Amino acid sequence: MNLNNSIEDLVSAQRRFFKSGTTRDIHYRVTQLKKLRSALIAKEAEVIQALRTDLNKSEQESFTTEIGIVYKELSYVIRNIHQWAKPRKVKTALTHIGSRGRILPEPYGTVLIIAPWNYPWQLAISPLIGAMAAGNTAVIKPSELTPAVSAVISALIKDTFPESYAAVVEGGPDTSTCLLQQPVDYIFFTGSTRIGKIVMQAASQHLTPVTLELGGKSPCIVHRDASLKLTAKRIVFGKFTNAGQTCVAPDYLLVHESVKEPLLQYMKEAITEFYGESPLKNPDYGRIVSEKHFLRLSHFLDNGSVRHGGNYDESNLLIEPTLLDDITWDMPVMEDEIFGPIFPILTYNDLNEVIATVNARPKPLALYLFTNDAGVQKQIMSEISFGGGCINDTLMHLATPYLPFGGVGASGMGAYHGKHSFDTFSHMKSILHQTNKFDFSFRYPGKDGLKLLRKLMKP
Ligand code: NAD
Repeated sequence: MNLNNSIEDLVSAQRRFFKSGTTRDIHYRVTQLKKLRSALIAKEAEVIQALRTDLNKSEQESFTTEIGIVYKELSYVIRNIHQWAKPRKVKTALTHIGSRGRILPEPYGTVLIIAPWNYPWQLAISPLIGAMAAGNTAVIKPSELTPAVSAVISALIKDTFPESYAAVVEGGPDTSTCLLQQPVDYIFFTGSTRIGKIVMQAASQHLTPVTLELGGKSPCIVHRDASLKLTAKRIVFGKFTNAGQTCVAPDYLLVHESVKEPLLQYMKEAITEFYGESPLKNPDYGRIVSEKHFLRLSHFLDNGSVRHGGNYDESNLLIEPTLLDDITWDMPVMEDEIFGPIFPILTYNDLNEVIATVNARPKPLALYLFTNDAGVQKQIMSEISFGGGCINDTLMHLATPYLPFGGVGASGMGAYHGKHSFDTFSHMKSILHQTNKFDFSFRYPGKDGLKLLRKLMKP
């Protein structure tokens, strides 16, 4: 059977299973989520090994950024699902007296999840949790660039669920294209802005709703009053985790001219503290995912001047944590999202310049601001549009189930995590339950109700 036919059969089987109504039962969902949890726990060692194989992630990094975060999401969802799935009461308008308004969250049906390679575990499993919690069936397409993790996910799902409920289809762009031709009920895509456009175009054929979790150049702004030593540590953590291959990594630094040198010094110290004197020899330092990405990144090392790092090991696809100075916006490193351990440094004197610079470009996925000045915090948060971010930290906004995580504009649409995942994968069906005990005649044609209506509906 060719790929097209087998994918068609799979999606049809899932649609049939969804129509059986089994997944609408909340107890069924909880049981499946608990099964998923047991399977994840049982496979943990294999996941750690696979992440080591694909990206040389250390156990510590794998646990904090891929495994632990998924456990947390799963237990949070299991704890709260009953509450979220209940009909949600709304107020009754004066014009609707006697009736009751309810919102009924209902599953869409069959969900397609397309995942990237940089957090190949978390970014496949976390949307799956939301899709299952909301009562959908799911087809997952992991990234072909992380084959070891893709194989673990495939085996785990196959061993845990019937294919008609949850299934993995492994493969690259051809497989993705084929999946995107299917009449699924929701598409959740995580990846680049370029492919996000292809996904949205494909979704338009069936008018399938989408969430697009994309990327972009996320600025990191350090104001003159920032607590520099702590700032440096938190930036280095955010920038060089997973060798910079993080969608919400600070892409470039905008630092107030007056504190640039001390901040640089603290950043160098933090890099040495985290990765040692020779990061290329550190067995726990992340590698670049592919030769193609390595070559793309290595060209950036010629931009401006290297203030720290700059060495690489081509045979092992490693690039040192690198700080680049004397950077201007016309350099290649400033064109697109860097997605690697290279950090360009730009300076400013006037905060309005910063706002104009960032606002002149596509809306970023994240923004990080380091300052203790409440006025500056307020100004940046209100005058720049971006997906989400932190004041005085990096990355941590995505690690809490209480905050919706997603982009805006070119960095994506829609959001998830915690209740926001449940809502993302649910259609909110609005129901007005009218009373038959009485009937106001003023709304009917030919009745003299206009005077009253004008009173009730006055601007
Ligand atoms: P990508 O867009 O190249 O690939 C993502 C997925 O799309 C993969 O599964 C891939 O197989 C599939 N794909 C590739 N070509 C396709 C095509 N022509 N048609 C349909 N599907 C296709 O992204 P990537 O390189 O895997 O990941 C890196 C990008 O993802 C970065 O831009 C990063 O910022 C972004 N990202 C965003 C988030 C987020 O949560 N917003 C998280 C991680 C990564």
